[in-house]
Amino acid sequence: MQHTAPLSATPAAYLAKHSPDAPVLFLAPSVLQATARRFQADFDGLVTYAVKANDRPEVLSNLVAAGITSFDVASPAEMAAVRAVCPKAVLHYNNPVRSTAEVKAGIAAGVYSWSIDDMSELAKLHDVPRDNEVAVRFALPVKGAAYDFGSKFGAAPAQAAALLRAVVALGFTPSLCFHPGTQCNDPQAWVQYVHAAADILRMADVSINRMNIGGGFAVDRGFDAPDHRAVFAAVKAALAESFGANAPAVLCEPGRAMVADAAVLATRIKGMRNEGRTVFLNDGIYGGLPDLRDMGLSGLVNVVGPDGAFRQGATTPRVVFGPTCDSLDRLPDGLPLPEDAQTGDYLLFGGMGAYSIAMSTAFNGYGLGRVELVSRLGDEAKRKAA
Ligand SMILES: *Cc1c(COP(=O)(O)O)cnc(C)c1O
Repeated sequence: MQHTAPLSATPAAYLAKHSPDAPVLFLAPSVLQATARRFQADFDGLVTYAVKANDRPEVLSNLVAAGITSFDVASPAEMAAVRAVCPKAVLHYNNPVRSTAEVKAGIAAGVYSWSIDDMSELAKLHDVPRDNEVAVRFALPVKGAAYDFGSKFGAAPAQAAALLRAVVALGFTPSLCFHPGTQCNDPQAWVQYVHAAADILRMADVSINRMNIGGGFAVDRGFDAPDHRAVFAAVKAALAESFGANAPAVLCEPGRAMVADAAVLATRIKGMRNEGRTVFLNDGIYGGLPDLRDMGLSGLVNVVGPDGAFRQGATTPRVVFGPTCDSLDRLPDGLPLPEDAQTGDYLLFGGMGAYSIAMSTAFNGYGLGRVELVSRLGDEAKRKAA
């Protein structure tokens, strides 16, 4: 399926023409498809997409158009979103805690792979077809991610070995999976996991045909460009070192790194005070910007006037609030904005395709609810030259 709507050329061109007063997420299908193709060319294994990063149909259909047909889903609603754009998609249900109703929904949706990290969850899979894959999720105390997922999910190695044996005893196809955490740019995080996987398999005396190395690949936030090829090369070398000729096939499940670059979030300045040191936006942490609270400020910020022209002034740090009446609705302090930025201007955040619209709430009647397709992102997605 391809996008069919007529596209504006760039976010700035759209803003100059339509003057939207609510936040807009500008998605460039050309960028999204190029990223998906690059992942598939560079990664020596199966590339799947973690739907939670952005579950919009415009995103899913463009990924399918670029050749992505396997998806990491965490809920029945995500399964339905994928099936709606790709009826034959392969579903990997990688939320390791499920209600019995959710297990039933997964069976009905034709899930192929299920991750678990506890015996109590394996027990819930009694009606799952025995030709399905069950992947044991394990966790290590590794560093390298912006925030770590290991404290919520994942069995310790010895427990993972016991779980693998139980998976085999029940007649499922065994696998291992892990997820190093999000915005991780240290190849050693994956390397440690691959070596630990080999140890777990030896402990369990089980062999597997494929292993899931998770997502977590970093994106460019305007400071350091990530190097996915370095991660892929390190994974390949670690597989060869730990498994020799018997290395399992691998799959990865990027969310953030698949979709972040493909979108620019346009917010609007509603008001300014204290000689411009305090700025009020029409979007904030309850809308499209919760990720900034967790990841810190991004360097990919630009301001354009209502005519679409970029503000070029020297920057000064500001305190930036969102639109709701909650004082927590505030970006990390010190966002540098051009001196000539004014009320009514648009504040553009590049690299905002992931964990933006997917996390937006309607709190206080605000929030990011709109996606517009553009043919390219232009300078709106780039770090302003200092
Ligand atoms: C969230 C998640 C991902 C995607 O993580 P990113 O950091 O967005 O790449 C992949 N796998 C699992 C199991 C996840 O929970």
